[in-house]
Amino acid sequence: MGEGKFVWTALPPLPLRGLASELVESIDYYVLRMSWTTGWSLSQIMGLLASSNGRSGSGQRLRCYRTDEEAERLVLSMEKLAGVPHLRCGTLLPLKDIIGRKAVSGWRGTPRRWCPLCYKRWDATTDWEPLVWSIPHISRCPIHRCLFSDKCPRCGAKQPGDRAIATRCLCRKCKASLGADGSFAKQSKLHAWVDTQVLSLVNFCAEPSQQVLSADVLSELMSGLKAKANGRNRIDLLGTAVSWSDPGNAPSPLSIRALVNLSAFQGVPVVDLIMRPREAMEAPLLDLWSGSHWIASPFARNEDPVKHARWLARRLLDDRSLRYIPPISILAKDSRVSLIKLREFDPEVYAWYVHAYKRQCGPSLRQARERAFLVALKCLENLDISGRSHHYFWWLPAEIEKKSHVDRSDADVAFYAAMRYVRLLARALKHSERLSMVTNSNRWIESAPSPASPLAAT
Ligand SMILES: [Zn+2]
Ligand SMILES: [Zn+2]
Repeated sequence: MGEGKFVWTALPPLPLRGLASELVESIDYYVLRMSWTTGWSLSQIMGLLASSNGRSGSGQRLRCYRTDEEAERLVLSMEKLAGVPHLRCGTLLPLKDIIGRKAVSGWRGTPRRWCPLCYKRWDATTDWEPLVWSIPHISRCPIHRCLFSDKCPRCGAKQPGDRAIATRCLCRKCKASLGADGSFAKQSKLHAWVDTQVLSLVNFCAEPSQQVLSADVLSELMSGLKAKANGRNRIDLLGTAVSWSDPGNAPSPLSIRALVNLSAFQGVPVVDLIMRPREAMEAPLLDLWSGSHWIASPFARNEDPVKHARWLARRLLDDRSLRYIPPISILAKDSRVSLIKLREFDPEVYAWYVHAYKRQCGPSLRQARERAFLVALKCLENLDISGRSHHYFWWLPAEIEKKSHVDRSDADVAFYAAMRYVRLLARALKHSERLSMVTNSNRWIESAPSPASPLAAT
């Protein structure tokens, strides 16, 4: 806008707050502010944006993590109607050709989070909700260093994402303030590192001069990764680490989690990874099997069965006395989680288990043992095994041998494995109460187990 020249815009020209910083305002909050300033409802504003694109769409919402074409059109309309450039800096759109549509949302969408200390000192006329609050992998407020909160401190209620600014800092249910003193659990080096990486990604997007990154970056990352994976025969594992299911096909977009994982494996900052993908991929790959860390899905609650399933898988892998482990599909079914969810939650344990399962013996022996294992499970179903060792059931292997047509030695192996499995499964299903006592930080970042399984080593 030239000096002295006045231009009418359909919406008031509210600038995006925190531009060019890691604390840039999220587009979600910007729209709420627009609604607060104009008195228009969210639906009315969204309807206006959509109709300026010749569409209808008052039910749409702008979300900072949306990177689809429709979202991009809506952001551009908002820039035009408000006469404010760079609103896309309040979104992840500069990464749209690299990250996928579900870059940050989980199975249930991204829950609303806030910093309790920020809310405690909130002034709606000058404050804003930063984009980073919506990125689940960062666990604490960059200003106050306290953990984010996602429920009312008094009644525990979750809060709707679109709540209007006037009442936004109050619980929707009990009307208590959502502001609080915040909790300051100790942060591990890994947590701190992940926080820094996520902030640097946001800072990257918040820079007005930043162009949308080219899709070539993704191809470079994938081809670099593929070359490494081939060299080390670890293609499955690397594939699951970055949710890369079909390495033969065109590269599929990454999630923020995959991007940060990849930068952890490469030992380079995530911004270097996207700015100089080829060079970054030339750095040596850190060895995934030597107790390295990575981010699992942050969305699983402590009581989520997927955690029990993962626990069970780890225990089976760690048990040096076992000479047979069942297929992961049996484990998932018994723990009442889907395979996809288990893999998504902890790709490393998943890949590690599948690897150990395949490597334990040849396919025909595995088949025979699986048959015997299932028969053994069936037999154990009707027996009370609590407090009894496997010697107590000395007669059972003979029965398993007969029913499943395997050698006695395989019947023994399967029987012993089934006894252990049934016990561990029972503990896994009872695990939720204990798990909820584990520090909350586990919810955000999971560390991989140490590679001590005898099965993995065979
Ligand atoms: Zn704060
Ligand atoms: Zn409440």
